[in-house]
Amino acid sequence: MTPNAFSTDSSANRLIPNAIPMPHRASPSSKAQQAAATQADPRWAAVLARSAAAEGSFWYSVQTTGVYCRPSCAARTPRPENVRFHASCADAEAAGFRPCQRCKPRQPTALSHHAALVTEACRSIESAESDKAVTLDTLAAGAGLSASHFHRIFKQATGLTPKAYAAAHRAQRLRNALNGSPTATVTDAIYSAGYPSSSRFYEQSAQVLGMTPSRYRAGGTALDIRFAIGQCSLGAILVAQSERGICAILLGDDADALVRDLQDRFAQAHLIGGDAAFEALVAQVVAFVEAPGLGLNLPLDVRGTAFQQRVWQALQAIPAGQMASYAEVAARIGAPTAVRAVAQACAANALAVAIPCHRVVKSDGALSGYRWGVERKRKLLDLESLPSSPSDHASASATVENAA
Ligand SMILES: [Zn+2]
Repeated sequence: MTPNAFSTDSSANRLIPNAIPMPHRASPSSKAQQAAATQADPRWAAVLARSAAAEGSFWYSVQTTGVYCRPSCAARTPRPENVRFHASCADAEAAGFRPCQRCKPRQPTALSHHAALVTEACRSIESAESDKAVTLDTLAAGAGLSASHFHRIFKQATGLTPKAYAAAHRAQRLRNALNGSPTATVTDAIYSAGYPSSSRFYEQSAQVLGMTPSRYRAGGTALDIRFAIGQCSLGAILVAQSERGICAILLGDDADALVRDLQDRFAQAHLIGGDAAFEALVAQVVAFVEAPGLGLNLPLDVRGTAFQQRVWQALQAIPAGQMASYAEVAARIGAPTAVRAVAQACAANALAVAIPCHRVVKSDGALSGYRWGVERKRKLLDLESLPSSPSDHASASATVENAA
């Protein structure tokens, strides 16, 4: 679609007063179709809301003015039949649209400027000498902001305070040190990760590692994991539990493959086949998978990096029967540009359905991939859409057709 050559007005998508309707090749019925397609697209709601959270996840063009905008542009809302969505500025320009002069989609926003400052701060926390913690004042000075302002934008962007971020990073460094150098002593690993004294560390080790450092280093050798395999409407299901809670729910066609997957995930743990009492727990998980809306009232043992944990928390906040795009999840955790990392975190999820990564779809509503097969994803979403408002979903999944 080429924009109308008539709109040479350099003040961009300010609509021309009393503009004469542009000569359209489109017939009235295809205009109505286009309007319907736009209105059914979840991105249209973000345009109507001038959503700052949607920044960076898409752009929209207006056929009658020939310009394209950020989702948050303050200009008058265009008519839906004239709107097309684009995945990038380059896409919009390739389709013949010019950047809006008002929202300047090519220029970094305050949000992305903040994101750049925060990214830089994260890198300096990560690269600091292990025995020297970076102070808030140093970070703020580096960003050219006051300490309180910097603290606020850092928390907004990462969901963590700089101090918590440093602690999470240090814990990761410790895990790496314990995993990476089998010859170093546990005490060396604790110091090299940047903990000031090992006695102080031991006090918090359960919190940081979920177990003592030596036990962790043994790959959780002493960690007992009970598991059992059952059947549900989605095929085979493996449920595993550590002493802290359910640590894996895996789905598949082949029970043996599920056991191998469990072995890979907990390489050195003690895997123990479930007994009768455990079968009862599996039945509870199966009932939950069949009707996710009921919720799972069992403690979960969630293992992942700080970033993965943030993504998974955001997934757990998506109610049954609803969906979000990878870009929306990225925006919700305050990392709007980390769409690919969000998709990777979804793929790394070991707790099928309990951490509902099946509720994440592509921005155009397409199902995209699922760690346990896209057919299972479709079935789960169908299951969830049964009890509550099926009409919404019918229209959401019938979307697409837009975007030039
Ligand atoms: Zn604009």
